[in-house]
Amino acid sequence: MAIVVQKYGGTSVGDVTRMKRVADRVAATHRAGNQTVVVVSAMGDTTDELVTMAEKISDLPPGRELDMLLTAGERISMSLLAMALHMLRIPAKSFTGSQAGIITDATHGRARIVDITPGRITGALEEGNVVIVAGFQGVSQDTKDVTTLGRGGSDTTAVALAAALGADVCEIYTDVDGVYTADPRVVPNARKLDQLTFEEMLELSAQGAGVLQARSVEFGRNHGVPIHVRSSFSFQPGTWIVNEEDIMENAIISGVAHDTQDAKVTIQHVPDQPGVAAKLFSGLADAEINVDMIVQNVSEAGATDISFTVPRADATRNRALLLGLAEQIGAAGATVDDAVAKVSLVGAGMKTHPGIAARMFAALSEAGVNIEMISTSTIRVSVVVAASDVELAVQAVHDAFGLADAPVAIP
Ligand code: ASP
Ligand code: MG
Repeated sequence: MAIVVQKYGGTSVGDVTRMKRVADRVAATHRAGNQTVVVVSAMGDTTDELVTMAEKISDLPPGRELDMLLTAGERISMSLLAMALHMLRIPAKSFTGSQAGIITDATHGRARIVDITPGRITGALEEGNVVIVAGFQGVSQDTKDVTTLGRGGSDTTAVALAAALGADVCEIYTDVDGVYTADPRVVPNARKLDQLTFEEMLELSAQGAGVLQARSVEFGRNHGVPIHVRSSFSFQPGTWIVNEEDIMENAIISGVAHDTQDAKVTIQHVPDQPGVAAKLFSGLADAEINVDMIVQNVSEAGATDISFTVPRADATRNRALLLGLAEQIGAAGATVDDAVAKVSLVGAGMKTHPGIAARMFAALSEAGVNIEMISTSTIRVSVVVAASDVELAVQAVHDAFGLADAPVAIP
C-alpha cells in the first residue's frame, strides 16, 4: 500500500463547494488503495483576515496569542473536510498539528519543526481512515504552546510529514499548474516546467518564487521525498521536484525568480579597518535581521561604503538600530532604499557551463537596466535593480535564455 500525502492550499479549499471538490479527489485517492494523509491550509484569505483583526486590536500582538489565533484557520478547514469525506462514506479523522505530533522549537510566528511523532496518524491510517492534518502549526517541545511555521507553512507540514511517514510522494495542490520558468503575470509566455531538482527549487523559493515555502523543499531534499506541485482544478501532471539523478531532461537554466520584498541599506563612509564589518554584521545578527547580498565598495581615503539587502520590513522596523550601528563603527550614516528588486537566474547546468552570468548581464544592459548589486551561488546569479525595472529585467533575462521554448539541452 502506498502512502500518499496531499496538501491543499487556501484557494483549493476557498469555499464549501471547493472543499467538496477536494473531498472527491481525496476519496478517489483513498479508494485507489492508498493510505492517504491530507494537509490543509486555512480557507481562502482567512489567515490574512485574522492577522488584520489582531492588528486592529493590538499594535504588537503577543506571539503566543497570535499563533493561537492563526492556527484556528487550519482547524476550520480540517474539520470541514473530514465532514465532507464522511458524507462520501469515507472514514476520516482530523488532527491539529499538536495532535499529529509536529514538535517545534518555541519561536512563535516562524517555528522550526524539530521532531515528528506521528503515532496517532499511523494509528488512524491503520484503522482505515483518511487522516487530515492542520497545516502550518505545531507545538513547542519546551513551552508546550501552539506555534506556527511562518506564512506558507502548510507546505512544510506536508513535506515533513511525508518524510516522517516514509511517503511515496508529497503532492502539493495549488491554484496554478506547477512551477513556471518565471511568474506568468510578468512573463506571459513563461513555460510550465515538468521537472526541477531540489537545489533549483530551493533557490527559486528562496529568491521569491511563491509556489512553495523554501523550508518544505529543504525537507524534501534532506529526506528524498519527491514533491509534485500541481493544480487542484485539473488532472494534468504538474512539476516534479526530485533528486538530480532522477532528472530526465537536462536544462542548463530552469527559471527566473524575482523578489520585491527587500530593501537596500547603505552604510556610508565606513572606516576601512579590520573588525568593522564584523561589528556591523554582529549587530544585525543580534537583532535577528537576515542579511542577503553584501557589497563593499573600493576604499577611498581610508573609508568605504558597505551596502546590503535585508527584508524590507526589517529595514523599516530597525531604522534607529541601523543608524546606531553606523555611529558605533564610526561611519557617516545609513540610508535605506525601498525601491529595489532582486532578479535571480537559476539552473543546475550553471555548475558546468561558463558564460551564464555574462549573458544575463548583457541582456540587462541591452534592456537598459542598471545593475546595483550582484551575488551568486553555484547554480544562481542574482542582481539587484531598481524596483521600476523589475518586470523589464525579468522579461529580458527570460528571453535571453529562450526559456519560453523547449529546454536547452546540455550537449
Ligand atoms: N494559512 C497559512 C498562510 O496563509 C499557511 C499556509 O497557507 O500555508 O500563510
Ligand atoms: Mg502557499
